[in-house]
Order: sequence, then C-alpha cells, then structure tokens
Amino acid sequence: MFVTLTNRTLELRSPITTAHGQITHRQIVEITVQQDEFFGHGEAAPLPGFGLETFEETQAALTEWSKNSHLLPSQPAALSGATTALDYLEQSKSRITPPSGSIAVQALISAIDISSLERQITEALDNGYRALKLKVAATDAATDVKRIEIATTLIAPEILLRLDANGGWTPQEALHVLTKVSPGRVALIEEPTSDPKDWRQIHQETGIKIGADEQLTNQAQIDRLIDLDAAQTFVLKPSVLGGPPPTRRIASQAAQNGIDIIISSFLDGPIALRTARDLALELAPHQVHGLGTAPLFVENLPNDVQPINGYLHRL
Ligand SMILES: [Mg+2]
Repeated sequence: MFVTLTNRTLELRSPITTAHGQITHRQIVEITVQQDEFFGHGEAAPLPGFGLETFEETQAALTEWSKNSHLLPSQPAALSGATTALDYLEQSKSRITPPSGSIAVQALISAIDISSLERQITEALDNGYRALKLKVAATDAATDVKRIEIATTLIAPEILLRLDANGGWTPQEALHVLTKVSPGRVALIEEPTSDPKDWRQIHQETGIKIGADEQLTNQAQIDRLIDLDAAQTFVLKPSVLGGPPPTRRIASQAAQNGIDIIISSFLDGPIALRTARDLALELAPHQVHGLGTAPLFVENLPNDVQPINGYLHRL
C-alpha cells in the first residue's frame, strides 16, 4: 500500500469566535492510500484548543504511518484521517457504490454584533436552511440573551434553532441565559458548561435538550455521559473520533440508550466533509446535521459538499 500526504490550507471568509478562541484558517493534511488500482482518501486537520494534537504532531504521526502503515497513528486527528482513507480503500476494493441520497444540514451562525448577526441569519434563511446553529458563550451572558432573542424573532417556529456554548458558560450563566429564552424555541444546547455533571439539571430546569460534543473524547467518557444521563443528543465528529469505525460504534451505543446523533464537521475540508456526509446518510439520514460549513471558506469546495437549499447531496 502506498500512502501520499499533501498539505493544504483553507482560509475562512471571516474568523469564527468560539469559547476556545478565534479560528481564521484550517491547516490540513490530505491523505491518499493506494493498493493496486484501488484508492482511498482521508484528511487530518487538528484545531488548537479542542483537545487534539498540534498540526506538526499530525504531520509527524502521518509521516511515520506512511512508512509503516501497519501501525496506525495514536493522535486523534491523524488517526481519523488514516482510518478514513483505509475505510474508503476497502469500499473501493469491494466495488460497492453507495446509493445516492441527500441529508439536511444546519447553517452555522457565529456573528457577535447585532447587525452582522441579523445579516447571517437572514442569509441562512434565504438559502433554504431548516436549522441554524448559533455559537454562544463567546461573549457576555446579556449579549447572548439579546442574540438568542433576535434569532427567535427572525426564525419561524418550524426552523430549528440550536445553540453551542462549547463548554463556555458557568452553570449559573447557562441557567440565566436559557431560562430567558421562550420555551420550546431552542431545540438543542451543545456543551452548555465544561462539566457534564451540570447538564442534567440544566435540561430539567429549561426543558432544552443537551448535546454532548467535545466531551465525547474516549469510551470511558462516553460511558460516563450515559451514566450521568447528561445528554439527549451526541454530536459526532468523525474527523476527531478516529474516523468511520468508532463513529459507527458510538452511534450504535447512542441508539441503544435512546440518544439521538448528529454528524458534524470540525470545520473540515472537502474530504472529511464527504466522509461525514456519507456517515450521516448511513447512520441518521433523517436528522439535520452539522455539515453546512463549506461556504465558510474563501476557496470554493467541490459541489458535492456544498449545501444546496440546506441539503448536501451524494450523487
Ligand atoms: Mg459543538
């Protein structure tokens, strides 16, 4: 088997502010594996502050693996890229073409100031999205209350409004903001605080479903979230969870425990977006997924990962 590694940088149109800081661009290693006439593609792109290795560590781990491909990298972003390439290589060898299909995706709304926020929301609605995800906890609680209020005013009740705090609130801030929101208007809050022990109470007091995302780091942590009854939804990012095989495993464990899953991009490039789209079609075809991120880049990503009227299509 031959492994080829290519570096690539994708620039974001505007910086994305999260509770972990500002993201302006993505550094990616694109991976191609070849065996006879068969190919598989993967992509590795760590992001500082999200519990992953550095880009340099990703490069080193993948270079090592390219020389000795029997030993998979242990670093999460490098591992995810490698197993993705191998998964697609196996599909290619089995000569099975997956059926065409479409999945709904959400628009990511990250603007802090009110006029940009209104513009982003209106654009997303005009572009046909049926779910919007608003980043919160990157500013003060009073501003978040105002931002959520504006979102609920602009968005019709049939459009899902999801929030993502990336663990940035204290339990008091989470309850302060979320109890001010009109009941029934927020469909999901991802990672309200950094401690999942807080989440059950937040769910009970606000009625809002809780999503686990960054906390889904390893099997012990997943078991703990289930034991704590902390989340009603798991947000699965194949590009950090170790690629398709662990994503399938966690999805099955979630289903056994009555937990919904959403497949999400990690501000991924085209290869990881395609992988995530395929897993969304395989594992939760009727959910609205977090894969509407291609338009956030300056560079035009391929059409099959670009949302059209709020959907990604596999042709
Ligand atoms: Mg999230």
